[in-house]
Amino acid sequence: MNIHEYQAKALLKKYGAPVAEGVPIFSADEAEAAAKQLPGPLYVVKSQIHAGGRGKGKFTELGPDSKGGVRLAKSIEEVVSHAKEMLGNTLVTKQTGDAGKQVNRLYIEDGADIDRELYLSILIDRTVGRPAFVVSTEGGMDIEAVAHDTPEKIITVAVDPETGLTQSDLDTLTSTLKLEGEAKADGEKLFPILYKAFVETDMALLEVNPLIVMTDGHLRVLDAKVSFDGNAMFRHDDIKELRDETEEDAKEIEASKWDLAYVALDGNIGCMVNGAGLAMATMDIIKLYGKEPANFCDVGGGAGKEKVAAAFKIITADPKVEGILVNIFGGIMKCDVIAEGVVAAVQEVGLKVPLVVRLEGTNVDLGKKILNESGLAITAADDLDDAAKKIVAAIQA
Ligand code: ADP
Ligand code: MG
Repeated sequence: MNIHEYQAKALLKKYGAPVAEGVPIFSADEAEAAAKQLPGPLYVVKSQIHAGGRGKGKFTELGPDSKGGVRLAKSIEEVVSHAKEMLGNTLVTKQTGDAGKQVNRLYIEDGADIDRELYLSILIDRTVGRPAFVVSTEGGMDIEAVAHDTPEKIITVAVDPETGLTQSDLDTLTSTLKLEGEAKADGEKLFPILYKAFVETDMALLEVNPLIVMTDGHLRVLDAKVSFDGNAMFRHDDIKELRDETEEDAKEIEASKWDLAYVALDGNIGCMVNGAGLAMATMDIIKLYGKEPANFCDVGGGAGKEKVAAAFKIITADPKVEGILVNIFGGIMKCDVIAEGVVAAVQEVGLKVPLVVRLEGTNVDLGKKILNESGLAITAADDLDDAAKKIVAAIQA
């Protein structure tokens, strides 16, 4: 689960991290009052979307000369005019895809006098099974280019969860980032704070890019991107409330309500399956016969009729889907339940594309009978190979 920059900064501030003063706003009417709460004379107007690269982004509605999604302002009037230009418009960045994301929230922040921009993140390094800091002196808006051209400038420091950050870890971090004097003292305080926040709130990623050294020699968290481990959110009710569903794929939200695993892909065959292994096999065989899956929806082991119907509706809601392949092995899940769910969903939403169903396992004969007697245009398949051939042939017809 992702949250916005301003939410991440509020969280880090609670842990004691140095962040700038700032005020989130939802409409341009609030911009003036927000800016008046800040010291000035330099302000920053920051688009709040769940994607990075905002500074170098462009607003679709403002054309090729559009200014970016993070803008400096030297007066309150300028804050207001930026806010008017940004709110409600679509920001396209390297991370949003061409469609971009609508900016519905802005963060008005105190401007910092920057001496250096550093990169710092904490993530779980799966190769060593530990949380790790990833740091570089080359922070700011071009970190992707640094990773590509000069990867040696990015250093990883894995932390032993038994001991937490040791003095030796701190020494490596401060020397890699070339922190001296007050900045070094700030770093030795900040890094354990970030680590504590990461572990206690079950983050999957904490990225501070840039972490800045200001002209007064102190450190400040200038940008913050946080994602949490969704599987741990049951123990963080306060964090769950920060979820902004307008940032998420509507189909994935609907799927999560039903506890369905739905993944959108690029092709045009929708797949309803049970189990990750069968999903993989189904996608492989579709590709083998020359087509690509548009998505897959894993209904899991013990789904009931309503859940199957919900899955079917999610799959058909995708306009890219030109055909649907239902491939279910009825183990705990019975084939007749699947068949009833599919029939119920088709009766409710209609069927505009070819549907091939392959069922195997418990109550398979009953399942096939339900499909055959439904009077709906459903093609039954005998095995996986037959199913893939039939759906590929159907969408080429
Ligand atoms: P993104 O990574 O999405 O482009 P950032 O928050 O990192 O957004 O902002 C982009 C750049 O804007 C930063 O690298 C920094 O140079 C500048 N910037 C951001 N916030 C401030 C601020 N409060 N004061 C001064 N400059 C800022
Ligand atoms: Mg940034």
